[in-house]
Amino acid sequence: MSLLNEFDRRGLAETGQELHGFAADLYPICRSITGNGIRQTFESIGRRIPLRVTEVPSGTPVFDWIVPKEWNIRDAFIARPGGKRIVDFRCSNLHVMSYSTPVQATLSLSELKPHLASLPGHPDWIPYRTSYYEENWGFCLSHDQMLALQEGDYEVCIDSTLEDGHLTYGECYLPGRSTDEVLISCHSCHPSLANDNLSGITVATALAQLLSGQDLRYSYRFLCIPGTIGAITWLARNPEAARRIRHGLVLTCIGDAGGFHYKKSRRGDAEIDRAAAHVLRHYSESPEILEFSPYGYVERQYCSPGFNLAVGCLMRSVWGSFPEYHTSADNLNFVQPLQLAGSLRVCTAIMDVLENNRRYCSQNPCCEPQLGRRNLYRSTGGEGLGEETSARLWVLNFSDGEHSLLDIAERSGLPFASISDAAELLLEKGMLSLTEATTFDRSVAAQPRARF
Ligand SMILES: [Zn+2]
Repeated sequence: MSLLNEFDRRGLAETGQELHGFAADLYPICRSITGNGIRQTFESIGRRIPLRVTEVPSGTPVFDWIVPKEWNIRDAFIARPGGKRIVDFRCSNLHVMSYSTPVQATLSLSELKPHLASLPGHPDWIPYRTSYYEENWGFCLSHDQMLALQEGDYEVCIDSTLEDGHLTYGECYLPGRSTDEVLISCHSCHPSLANDNLSGITVATALAQLLSGQDLRYSYRFLCIPGTIGAITWLARNPEAARRIRHGLVLTCIGDAGGFHYKKSRRGDAEIDRAAAHVLRHYSESPEILEFSPYGYVERQYCSPGFNLAVGCLMRSVWGSFPEYHTSADNLNFVQPLQLAGSLRVCTAIMDVLENNRRYCSQNPCCEPQLGRRNLYRSTGGEGLGEETSARLWVLNFSDGEHSLLDIAERSGLPFASISDAAELLLEKGMLSLTEATTFDRSVAAQPRARF
């Protein structure tokens, strides 16, 4: 089975438009780590894939954390007394610091200023700020707006609520032949920010759509969760499911024009780390492979030592490294259809490796089998051996029950898809047999295996 062939049948441009259109639908919603914005987002995702939504009450202990109060906002502004709005939440939800407590006051400019944030280096951008775990309120505005504020009084209103409610997360589970799972995780807690948030959500949703209805080796679990506290809450409530995760990817910042970055799992040599690095080497220009660090996105929780899951993080530009990060410039122009579609293609190719990475035994281990009489030698003709024939020779030589197809792809320098196609053909011709052990992640191989 080739998921990539399935993807390529749909076409990159059409897929890109579909992804970008979905991002545009979700863009205006004021999301946070709790509240109605995240619920509305899950309703939209749920119209595309089967999404089970879970509500966890505020105050629930989750490991060393406590599920926070729920935050909702209806309106906010700064205005001259009796005058028109100078800073208006209805123009951009970034204008209000996320989790701002309710305020209704008249303040002097000097009283107001400690609650204002702007970016002098980018005077027309609005910064994105949060204060989840310390009760506070604030406004974010462009530096041009900040400089235009005159001495005098200002009417300040934040019509929000911060009270006991729920933390909401969504999961989509696609059953495969094995109960062993592949986890795809994205955060869904940022308001109108496109690359940091919506790119991951839209690509993960489209990947779930692509995988649903396929005959899958693994079961797949897609998690849409608020950053940090969402992953901690899910892990605290789902220890059994966490134990079934064999491979995982956190998807974030994958819609911009930057080259791909893959941050390895804490293990560093997990099958997902090798699969992602291999795919990026063959399907993208100048990818960078980063070692694990205990900072970044929700991979920090999956890779905490008590879980130590084989979960890496796929990005284009790395969070914090691009000027648009956490500003109003991370908008729908910053993520482009073809970039989103290219990221989905890379994810699909990585899933292809996981789905098809098996070990085989050659039925002719003593000297090369005669490929010519089976019409398996140089079928494409021309100069040199050709990739097809070369892949067949590599697969036959290294199919000794020890080497996986990914081992062979890495050693030969050939793309996994060529190695996998060769193995499928040779199996069909009776020249290979599938070995019993089908998991190649050595750290997992020792654990009891589910039936395939
Ligand atoms: Zn962020």
